[in-house]
Amino acid sequence: MQQQLLRIQQRIAEACVAVGRSASEVRLLPVSKTFAHERVQQAIDLGLTRFGENRVQDIRTRVEHFNDSTLAWVMIGHAQTNKAKDIARYASELQSLDRLSLAQALQQRLELEQRTLPVFIQVKTAQEVSKSGLEPDELLGFLQQLNGFDRLLPQGLMTMATQTTDQTEVRRCFAQLRQLRDQALEQGFESVQRLSMGMSGDFELAIAEGATDVRVGSALFGTRD
Ligand SMILES: *Cc1c(COP(=O)(O)O)cnc(C)c1O
Repeated sequence: MQQQLLRIQQRIAEACVAVGRSASEVRLLPVSKTFAHERVQQAIDLGLTRFGENRVQDIRTRVEHFNDSTLAWVMIGHAQTNKAKDIARYASELQSLDRLSLAQALQQRLELEQRTLPVFIQVKTAQEVSKSGLEPDELLGFLQQLNGFDRLLPQGLMTMATQTTDQTEVRRCFAQLRQLRDQALEQGFESVQRLSMGMSGDFELAIAEGATDVRVGSALFGTRD
């Protein structure tokens, strides 16, 4: 796994150099979803401490298995509103906030837990109907409404690109997210800084369009079943 990690770090560095960015601007989020605890332990042994998971139940299982408060578990998958309690309790960050009802449920649960939660707003930039996320034209209104939820700390935007080999289309998705972030900043939503976009197959394109957080699973852990 060390070879894979070095290779990813090298790919990030090269993608940054190609567009005149500093590699220190780009954070790697290893996506451990579906992999055995033993594999995650190997990653921990290499010094990794934050991991992305796409199911709330899996975050809970990881927290209980590793029982180590220096580790952080990031929710990156579609979250059901009835899972707000476990998100508030076990997740260190939510990158897939995509609707008001979820924000409301989280606010309540976070008050009970006496916690705050860093969030990314997931925006739908892809063409597929199946991809979740806010519609791009709903973003500014949604950010306005989020101001009323003091337990949620917006960090930036998240997206998944259209699943296609057409690099022009993938890059269009990433560029759209960057433009939305820039609009949000112009409108005074100054905490909306980060861009979580890019996965194993496309993170170089995402970095070229300004990604600050790349979510990488299979390039690090191997192919999933
Ligand atoms: C699985 C997943 C990833 C990682 O995908 P890889 O192709 O394995 O790198 C990134 N983001 C989300 C939201 C995912 O569900």
